[in-house]
Amino acid sequence: MKHIWIFILCLGSALAAKEEGAVVQFKFVELTHLLTPEVPTWNGSCGFCMEVKGDYDKMFRVQQIKMHAGVGTHMDAPSHCIPGADSIGDIPLEKLVVPACVIDVSAKAGADYEVSVEDVEEYEKRHGRLPSGSLVIAHTGWGRFWSDREAYRNVDAEGQMHFPAFSGEAAEFLLTRDIAGIAIDTLSPDCLDLNYPVHKAILGAGKYIIENIANCSQIPASGSYVIALPLRIEGATEAPVRIVGISGSI
Ligand SMILES: [Zn+2]
Repeated sequence: MKHIWIFILCLGSALAAKEEGAVVQFKFVELTHLLTPEVPTWNGSCGFCMEVKGDYDKMFRVQQIKMHAGVGTHMDAPSHCIPGADSIGDIPLEKLVVPACVIDVSAKAGADYEVSVEDVEEYEKRHGRLPSGSLVIAHTGWGRFWSDREAYRNVDAEGQMHFPAFSGEAAEFLLTRDIAGIAIDTLSPDCLDLNYPVHKAILGAGKYIIENIANCSQIPASGSYVIALPLRIEGATEAPVRIVGISGSI
């Protein structure tokens, strides 16, 4: 909880400083992809559809949305693979406004790369131990393919997708740091291993996963916060999330 109070105090003093005319150097970073019918999806189908059901001739444009619950930048709740575990609507706010730790493997992450225990240890050597309650973001660089759904899904002749992910060992190691969750700039933190060890470990420990995070190169490796707010749908195992990074000081 301590980090949330520090964050609120910082934001409060920044806003007060703004009123007094001081320069506010907080930077807000959009970490959410725009939703369109063309976005890459897990199964390759169209995951998002928006229709106009009534228009301005009757004063209001009224739209209807149909989509996969897990489309675009979205959150997996523990109930996504653990029966009876917390769903999206159960995740408390203090787990959604948290410090962000960005592990940058973009210089070496090829299509079958897995973020390893060594990558996490290397991060901790440089930036200190991962704070309890933080969101650990893997910046693999794969987000550069987002606007090309075929390149982003990268399916081989056998139908297997190839994109960077986490190793199961890294997921287990992160749990020793009592994180709030993990995020990655690909379709999933599991790719080649169809036993989904990362989902099982993270969601099985009551943490959450954010997939298809955007622009994670634009927040620092440590010292920033994220606000990650999924649509609060009762019983949802996944939901689109608006995630914003906040870094800087006054
Ligand atoms: Zn997932």
